[in-house]
Amino acid sequence: MLIDRYGRIATDLRVSLTDRCNLRCAYCMPADGLDWLPGPDVLTDAEVVRLVGVAVERLGVREVRFTGGEPLLRRGLVGIVAACAALRPRPELSLTTNAVGLATLAGALVEAGLDRVNISLDTLHPDRFAAIARRRRLTDVLEGIEAAARVGLHPVKINAVLLRGINDDEAPGLLRWAIEHGHELRFIEQMPLDGQHSWNRSEMVTADEILQSLEDEFELTPLGAAQRGSAPAETWLVDGGPARVGVIGSVSRPFCSACDRTRLTADGQIRTCLFAREESDLRLPLRAGASDGELARLWQVAMAGKQAGHGIDEPGFLQPARPMSAIGG
Ligand code: SAM
Ligand code: SF4
Repeated sequence: MLIDRYGRIATDLRVSLTDRCNLRCAYCMPADGLDWLPGPDVLTDAEVVRLVGVAVERLGVREVRFTGGEPLLRRGLVGIVAACAALRPRPELSLTTNAVGLATLAGALVEAGLDRVNISLDTLHPDRFAAIARRRRLTDVLEGIEAAARVGLHPVKINAVLLRGINDDEAPGLLRWAIEHGHELRFIEQMPLDGQHSWNRSEMVTADEILQSLEDEFELTPLGAAQRGSAPAETWLVDGGPARVGVIGSVSRPFCSACDRTRLTADGQIRTCLFAREESDLRLPLRAGASDGELARLWQVAMAGKQAGHGIDEPGFLQPARPMSAIGG
């Protein structure tokens, strides 16, 4: 098991497959992009599968989510999914993506064994999309979402980040659209994880504000802590259900005490938290010939050091050196 000093057990592994991306969302990356990881530092497909295997077969990980950067840019993605689907016990496999190019890949991913998908969509207006993502790709994203639903990846989960003065009036519109299409929508508070370090708490659209604007148009009934479990989203029934909406208040309503995550970066570093300031290297021992048992032990030692919380509200808080896109969101 991957257990920390506070008794939390990590069963959910986030694997970043690349730090590169074809969009430049303002809350994530600078317009010019970032210095990408050097190719030789990035784990090969076989190395990724080996480490996921260690997590699943030796450490009790039950759910594996591929992310990035943009995971659809990883050439070996379909093969990695297929190899992970062959692990026993078979993990739940999901993907967090911006959906650009998903229309082409969705069928192959499902055939390979992908179970679920989370797609990021912050606005339904093409101009706003271009302002946020700095690319005119809304049509591709909507086609990707449609394809995901068509190949059976439903309910398609949609993640939205609201930015003050840009799309902060869109919560009800996005929810109406998601309900009409049978998708499950979750809003995520903007976190201090952008590459340009420009996050400002007073600018953040808070979970309370999001709920307030939804309540102007919908009747929301809280589903309560029992349904939340270790899931970061608090969930509400919309107009009596069955439709739901989630809000992930990572900053204003942290859920660290129930966290069940462990993270593997594209260059083979274990992170215990998005906001961790330390990483534990598995790539070097992996390439030096460590056994599965040795790699598992290193992972356990790393997880034992997980902090109680992200510490955003503490006076000495420092944003981690790596941005979300390089950690794997
Ligand atoms: N490129 C893929 C995508 O956008 O879905 C996967 C990686 S992205 C880093 C994963 C998620 O993190 C997305 O839903 C994105 O909106 C979210 N994200 C990125 N930067 C964020 C930030 N500073 N605060 C909150 N969420 C953020
Ligand atoms: Fe790319 Fe996802 Fe970051 Fe947007 S949020 S720039 S799509 S990694």
